[in-house]
Amino acid sequence: MKPFEFLHKQTLKELYSEKNKPIFEKILVLVQPRADDIAMYFYRQLLNNEKAIRFLNHDVVKNRLRSTLAKWICTSLSYHVTSEELDQNYSYQQEIGRIHARIDLPMSLVDYGMGLIKLQVALILKESDLERDELADAIILCGQIFDLALAIIDESYEHDLMINEKNAESLKLHVSSQNLAFDYSKLCTSLSEWMRNLLLLITQNKYDASMQGTIRHSNFGLWVSHKAHLFLAGRKELRSLVLQLDNIDEEMRLLGIHVLDKNVIAIEETLSHLNEHISTTIWILNNLANDTIEEENGRDPLTHLFNRRYLETVMRHETRYSLENGILFGCVMVDIDFFKNVNDTYGHDNGDRVLLQLADILTQQVRAGDFVFRLGGEEFMIVLADVQIPAINIVAEKVRFAVEKFEFKLNHNISLALTISVGTAIHDGHPDFKNTIKMADEALYIAKESGRNQVVAAPQNPITYAVKND
Ligand code: GH3
Ligand code: MG
Ligand code: MG
Repeated sequence: MKPFEFLHKQTLKELYSEKNKPIFEKILVLVQPRADDIAMYFYRQLLNNEKAIRFLNHDVVKNRLRSTLAKWICTSLSYHVTSEELDQNYSYQQEIGRIHARIDLPMSLVDYGMGLIKLQVALILKESDLERDELADAIILCGQIFDLALAIIDESYEHDLMINEKNAESLKLHVSSQNLAFDYSKLCTSLSEWMRNLLLLITQNKYDASMQGTIRHSNFGLWVSHKAHLFLAGRKELRSLVLQLDNIDEEMRLLGIHVLDKNVIAIEETLSHLNEHISTTIWILNNLANDTIEEENGRDPLTHLFNRRYLETVMRHETRYSLENGILFGCVMVDIDFFKNVNDTYGHDNGDRVLLQLADILTQQVRAGDFVFRLGGEEFMIVLADVQIPAINIVAEKVRFAVEKFEFKLNHNISLALTISVGTAIHDGHPDFKNTIKMADEALYIAKESGRNQVVAAPQNPITYAVKND
């Protein structure tokens, strides 16, 4: 949970409480018909702002962002009845923070923009025929709503930015991550020794809680608190390790009490819990060790392609580069046709062989500056740097054809012919990179629907950059 999540949720509940319902309804009647005007005013102001212009090109604003903002204003000013709706509101504001972090929009700009919206809403209310007291209530309530939204956006923005930065940093550090696999095996050994030592002290009646340092200060604890936070940032394994650390510390606290009480049954029970936590921890560490070198380098252990880990870092870089330099990039989404049949007919092992061979084909077909990712399963994505509209589809078609004519080699000299479906999209100026991925994904879906073994390009908006640096 983020530090102020509870406070924010509590404030949301108070603001959207029953007593404010009538005033919300009055506000919405006045503001809803003008929401689009506010959004238009907001973007007009931002497009006049030198700092903001890099993030917004006119077409994207006209076509999408404006209506999204108008919808956001209305949702924020609509009375929410159920706790489910309040949770949705909270997640919605969080998501906006995340998007802003993804597109690298400075928070000062978000603050500035929120000020513009607050003022426009206040002016609309002021022009209305609300009574003096109602007017005051309405303006105060709107102010509180927008301030709270800003606080939630701000918090999730900071949180996500931190994770992004940690990832970018660990990408830079990846050379030394080879040592990590070694760290894991050392940690497993030291944990086993720690447990064995503890059992020995207990059985020899030499255990003294005051002499026994906490697990947090052991080799393992120090590693989790310092290194793991850097190398495993944002991963579920990190949360599991931190949880195990807490569990072990808690059991150690109990053990100290039971030893003082000389409560043999409780001591045995606590030791058995401790043993379980230590085993789970070793299991997590072993799993991490198995594919750590690949994964820590952002690679998929099977194909050695990039995995999802650095997708965000790469896409953010490409999007920023594109917006700053007016140079386009594209996404090519690839999915094997009827791959399940390969597994069902020839087994998973052969399925894996096919994935490996496809990874080779994809890598051979692109340039050194392009990125090939395995997104998961039998789904791959190529990020083509500096590419124009016809070229991206020519590359995609080349890849499709190369796969179609390739003989995949399975065990026992079996050869197999396979096809892929492909969706392509060029970055269309939308500052959120997820949009480009989504367009390529939708194109891939159409390729599947239209009979597979084909390339489909996403419909393209002609792109007009608001600024070009050259
Ligand atoms: P479609 O043409 O619609 O894409 O059909 P499909 O069978 O390729 O797609 P579907 O999503 O139904 O099945 C994907 C299969 O990929 C299911 C799963 O068993 C298999 N798969 C996912 N990851 C791996 C892996 O790492 N190794 C192997 N061998 N198979 C995998
Ligand atoms: Mg498939
Ligand atoms: Mg699939």
